[in-house]
Amino acid sequence: MKYKRILLKLSGEALMGERQYGIDPKRLAEYATEIKQIHDLGIEIAIVIGGGNIFRGVAGASNGMDRVQGDYMGMLATIINGMALQGALEAAGMKTRLQTALKIEAIAEPYIKRRATRHLEKGRIVIFGAGTGNPYFTTDTAAVLRGIEVGADVIMKGTRVDGIYDSDPEKNPNAIKFDYISFEDVLSKGLNVMDTTAFTLSQENKLPILVFDMNTEGNLLKVCKGENIGTVVNI
Ligand code: UDP
Repeated sequence: MKYKRILLKLSGEALMGERQYGIDPKRLAEYATEIKQIHDLGIEIAIVIGGGNIFRGVAGASNGMDRVQGDYMGMLATIINGMALQGALEAAGMKTRLQTALKIEAIAEPYIKRRATRHLEKGRIVIFGAGTGNPYFTTDTAAVLRGIEVGADVIMKGTRVDGIYDSDPEKNPNAIKFDYISFEDVLSKGLNVMDTTAFTLSQENKLPILVFDMNTEGNLLKVCKGENIGTVVNI
């Protein structure tokens, strides 16, 4: 296996599956199957999940809501998704822990780095909820931050596109995909991989980002084996 410990970032929207809102149990079960394949091979897995399928602070603010209030609602949404994912992973036979950056003691452990790494060493999947615990951040930033903290080898950003292109492949049929691109080239070409805060944090800490299509069966296993199906951003 190319990677020993990974930080998998899943967007909230991905959990909608075919739906317009909320959580699709079928998609959750599919993700659990994908994750189990790599878990069975001994890869240590930490997961950060977004909340965009339920609530985004920016969307609330554009409708007149206080941004900070909205962001906390968004963070709570990520906990809901984390609980759903936890249920699906456990139903598929994996041991998990949910740790949250905002304390909700009845349902999750508070985020403690040492505890999280211990869980990973024991083969438990650790899901990090509530993002960074701070408004004005994103779950991409949370993914990079937690990835650095727990010593992940890579941030795997599972998306619905199969990598990074020189232009939007959903709009331009001639868009060219990169197998590898440097952090600097992403910036100089103005490509959109993660928000600036997340991207800079990753670059400064030399933590590679691997963008791949998480919705195709077997892809997570392939990227863990080092197969060249997504795009790697590295120094
Ligand atoms: N959020 C936040 N701080 C964080 C992470 C998330 O305030 O550290 C809020 C923010 O409002 C964001 C929402 O939670 O819009 C959901 O997260 P995100 O948009 O990153 O989810 P995704 O796009 O991955 O589904």
